[in-house]
Amino acid sequence: MHPDLKNVIELQLVDLKIAGLTKQIDSLPAQIQSLHAGLDEFIHAQEERKKRLAANQHDRKELDGDIKEIQEKIAKHKDQLYQVKTNDQFRAMTKEIEGEEAKVRGIEDQILEKMLEAEDLQKRVQEAAARLESEKARVAAEVARLESEQRADDDERRSLQVRRDEIQESLSETTRSLYQRIRAARRGIAVAQVSDGLCTACNVLLRPQVYNEVRTNEVLLTCENCGRIIHYVEPAPSEAEESDGSGAEATA
Ligand SMILES: [Zn+2]
Repeated sequence: MHPDLKNVIELQLVDLKIAGLTKQIDSLPAQIQSLHAGLDEFIHAQEERKKRLAANQHDRKELDGDIKEIQEKIAKHKDQLYQVKTNDQFRAMTKEIEGEEAKVRGIEDQILEKMLEAEDLQKRVQEAAARLESEKARVAAEVARLESEQRADDDERRSLQVRRDEIQESLSETTRSLYQRIRAARRGIAVAQVSDGLCTACNVLLRPQVYNEVRTNEVLLTCENCGRIIHYVEPAPSEAEESDGSGAEATA
């Protein structure tokens, strides 16, 4: 095989791996941030529930105070019943006391409602508090996993970059600039396999003459249609779908 061709095939693989790793590395901060945001939302919802519970308790205290006040009034009015002089005054006073007692019952209903609401809130606060701990642990573990993945990706990318530089050094000046030019023009893919007479990157048939030449893998050729550097890959024996990479392995 032509030495530049062999090297350029490897260079393409290395560049694709670097691009894949870069994409992965760049996506990590957003993933970590969204995990933190989810947890913050959970904590915020819990704070809201606690605030509602506190407001409920405050309301109940006020209602209790209201009842006390009215009951004092009732007691005073009951004392005054003994001092009234006429039936009319008696009836008026009795009516007033009845009105006050009805008010007390109304407030007692409100207190009952508040107590039911408090019970429900209390239960939800407790449930969320228990869940919050496991949620925090889950997020911390997930963030740690992503961060260690990032470190591993960084390391791998760094060693691939070293390998890329080595390969580029070994290429002839013309091949190196040819590769870079096609790569820039063809969205990162500068090298294509030829299989069954086709350039597998653009799916166009090669002229028989070019095909015969490319089958030797001893010349550096480019596809006349897409311009990519082409190399020949022996078709896989029936099974195993096409395009599994460099086609470097053949023996079993
Ligand atoms: Zn092509």
